[in-house]
Amino acid sequence: MEKILIVDDSLLQAAQLKSILDSDYDVTVMQSAEEGLRSASTGGYSLILLDVVMPGMDGFTLLKKLQEEIITQSIPVILITSLSDVENEQRGFVLGAVDYITKPFKPLIVKARVNTHIKLYHYRRQAEEQSMIDQLTGIANRRGYERYSTAKWNEARHLRVPFTICIFDIDRFKNYNDTYGHPAGDRVIAAVAKTAACFLRRSTDFLARYGGEEFVAILLGDSSAKAFRHMQKIRQAVEDLHIPHGATESEWVTISMGGVTVVPEPESDYSAYLKIADTMLYDAKSNGRNQGIWMDELMTQHRERRPDGRRPDDRRPGGR
Ligand code: GH3
Ligand code: MG
Ligand code: MG
Repeated sequence: MEKILIVDDSLLQAAQLKSILDSDYDVTVMQSAEEGLRSASTGGYSLILLDVVMPGMDGFTLLKKLQEEIITQSIPVILITSLSDVENEQRGFVLGAVDYITKPFKPLIVKARVNTHIKLYHYRRQAEEQSMIDQLTGIANRRGYERYSTAKWNEARHLRVPFTICIFDIDRFKNYNDTYGHPAGDRVIAAVAKTAACFLRRSTDFLARYGGEEFVAILLGDSSAKAFRHMQKIRQAVEDLHIPHGATESEWVTISMGGVTVVPEPESDYSAYLKIADTMLYDAKSNGRNQGIWMDELMTQHRERRPDGRRPDDRRPGGR
């Protein structure tokens, strides 16, 4: 059931509205603008009905505050007023209200307006979600990534939980396109996305197509060792798809990855860590591809393979 928030200091008026909408919606009432603001930012509402005249902070001020917050700015607000004068209506629309209802309430009109704006809000949200999905792979696109990474970085910084950024990129992909054709290349990009997505199923995991044949994964809460081990599984799983590729070292389609795990400080800058992950990826490419390189919380580098191509735990003679 869609959630509606009514912010109104008059209990009687709020109760009237609630009774009109109660059968179709999950309605919450707050009696002051301050409480309304708090509830709006956490409540997951699809619509706010807001009284203009309230003691303390009035409806216009609250409307302005709702518009300023990222979390609340897209929630449609309908103003409730008995002052059906043009000036107040204009002021409300300028501040971003989507509609007006005037007292005394006419139930059919209230319902019709509320239904319309909730429907519009739905379409808008759907369109917005669609615009953040990559068509070829069905995972998030760059836009979705920008949105998610900013929000999660701020959250991790606030809660001081480990934050992992991993960038991975298909090896010698230009050559793959040249040899097998662009449509076949597209299928490889989709296969890599699908494989990676299988390993990133927790609600705190995130995967996006960063651009062309490059992907970015974000993991929350894992130590660098755990995150690195997990991402190596993805690299191995891509290799194990055994998609033939004549120009790679392993003869299959492979990926290289660079990552960093950090417990963000309040002043930590996301872009600096993204750059580290990118540098690690670059190292993995120049170290022979089909491998991961990681920077841990203490800024120590870890490699899946040594420069001679062997794994760090490989103790064969001459291998140290
Ligand atoms: P490296 O191992 O260093 O990553 O080499 P690379 O050839 O993979 O890297 P480069 O950046 O030179 O080439 C990337 C290629 O990816 C070039 C581009 O044509 C291809 N590509 C980018 N987006 C798409 C896409 O959507 N579909 C297909 N089929 N190819 C794409
Ligand atoms: Mg590449
Ligand atoms: Mg590339």
